[in-house]
Amino acid sequence: MSLGLWYAQPSNTRTPPDSSSARRADRSLEEMGYLLHCFRCSHRRTVGLDLKGPLDCEVCGAHMSVGGPLWLGDLADSSFCGEMLEASERSVVGSNRRLMEMVRLVRGEVGQPVGFHRIDKLCSMIGVASMPTEEALDAIRDAGRGAVRTHFDRRGVKTNASINELLETLRCAKGAG
Ligand SMILES: [Zn+2]
Repeated sequence: MSLGLWYAQPSNTRTPPDSSSARRADRSLEEMGYLLHCFRCSHRRTVGLDLKGPLDCEVCGAHMSVGGPLWLGDLADSSFCGEMLEASERSVVGSNRRLMEMVRLVRGEVGQPVGFHRIDKLCSMIGVASMPTEEALDAIRDAGRGAVRTHFDRRGVKTNASINELLETLRCAKGAG
C-alpha cells in the first residue's frame, strides 16, 4: 500500500517526505484495519483498510459487526517493557505490584492476536460453569494453542485458537466434552 496523498498536493506547497519516513508511514498503514466480530458465535477476524464484503461469519454464517478503523499491530514494545520492569524493580515503583503486573501483562501480549475473549462469557455461551482464568489458560495451552492473559480484562485471554477450538477446550476442561 502506498500513501499517495503527498503526490496529490501541488508540488510547490509541500516538501516531499524523506523515503524512510514515507516507508515507516506505509508500514504503519499496513497495520491499520478493522476487527470483525460475530455476536452469534464470537468468531473474530481482522481485515485491512480495503474492507470489502461479504461480511458473513465463516463459522456460523451470521452477519459480522465491524469495529474500526483501528491499529491492528502490537500495542507495546517488548524490550521497552522489559527495561521498564528492570528500572522499576530497582526503584520505589517496584513495590507497586499492580503496576508491575500490568507492565508484565502488556509485555506478554506483544505478538498476540487482536482482541480477547472473556472466559466467563464463553462458558455461559456453551452452558458450562465458568472457571478461573489461569485454569482456562492451562487448558488452552494443553490443547496445543498459545494463550495469555490480557491487561484489558482480568477474565480475558488472547489466544491463537479458533473459536471452535476454544469452545471445545472449555467444554472438555469442564468435563462436558
Ligand atoms: Zn459466527
